[in-house]
Amino acid sequence: MDKDIATPVRTRDILEKYGFSFKKSLGQNFLIDTNILKKIVSFANLTEKSGAIEIGPGIGALTEQLARASKKVTAFEIDQRLLPILEDTLSPYSNVKIIHQDVLKADVNAVLAEEMAGIEDVMVVANLPYYVTTPIIIKLLEDKLPIRGIVCMLQKEVADRISANPGTKDYGSLSIAIQYYTEAETVMIVPKTVFVPQPNVDSAVIRLTLRERPAVSVKDETFFFKVTKAAFAQRRKTLLNNLTSQLPNGKEKKEDIITSLTASGIEPSRRGETLSLAEFGRLSDELYKFFQ
Ligand code: SAM
Repeated sequence: MDKDIATPVRTRDILEKYGFSFKKSLGQNFLIDTNILKKIVSFANLTEKSGAIEIGPGIGALTEQLARASKKVTAFEIDQRLLPILEDTLSPYSNVKIIHQDVLKADVNAVLAEEMAGIEDVMVVANLPYYVTTPIIIKLLEDKLPIRGIVCMLQKEVADRISANPGTKDYGSLSIAIQYYTEAETVMIVPKTVFVPQPNVDSAVIRLTLRERPAVSVKDETFFFKVTKAAFAQRRKTLLNNLTSQLPNGKEKKEDIITSLTASGIEPSRRGETLSLAEFGRLSDELYKFFQ
């Protein structure tokens, strides 16, 4: 087996060979610790029948481990300068396909249909570029891809918000948006020292396991997310204050909002951060009668 890409020496050699300079604007912090990479891959529970979708392969450190652990890897990379490097570093692996595209603009469903045809178990596994972690995760979930889940590295602070429970300071509209589609857990905290260059913030790995159906059933998904965003607009305000100031014509519809809160069994003086997903679901359906 070839020497791992993710050792400090081999990574340095590859970067020097190609005269590669990191672009901070693309969130380029490469992993140089094989043990961490193997752990990340183990959280995805891949088998030789699984497919893996990677976002941002960099010089191929994680891609290589995924290629060894699964049947096929398809990776989206935005930076053209990395393509010849990846062709070189991943040449021992015939089951890897690199797609030169911004994942946020990609039709990931179409790519999956083509590249993962016949593969039933597909996971997204990535060390995400930190400047766009949330938009990427939300896009992958909203695209409703036929995947089992997502295992990804991101800023610890965002991981905390994604897996937060009601009643905690980290719980907010992001926790709800992600937990609506998935069961979210932080599975590992990662020190800065395993990256080059080292990021300014601590990192964590989260695992998102797709639910068979959303955590709550609501009349209108878009409106549900609008209500959850409104509820957290100003964290110290009450639910009633946030909803009246954020929902369209909320001030004129204050009585309707109070009626909806009461019908859902929620005190208007409560704060958004105390509501469970089920309570937000009930509230959203009651409000929808007045705001659709
Ligand atoms: N997977 C490698 C590793 O773990 O060492 C590199 C991870 S690095 C944190 C993020 C990678 O994502 C970089 O290679 C960067 O060029 C790429 N990237 C940034 N924005 C992207 C986007 N919108 N779509 C696809 N790739 C992107």
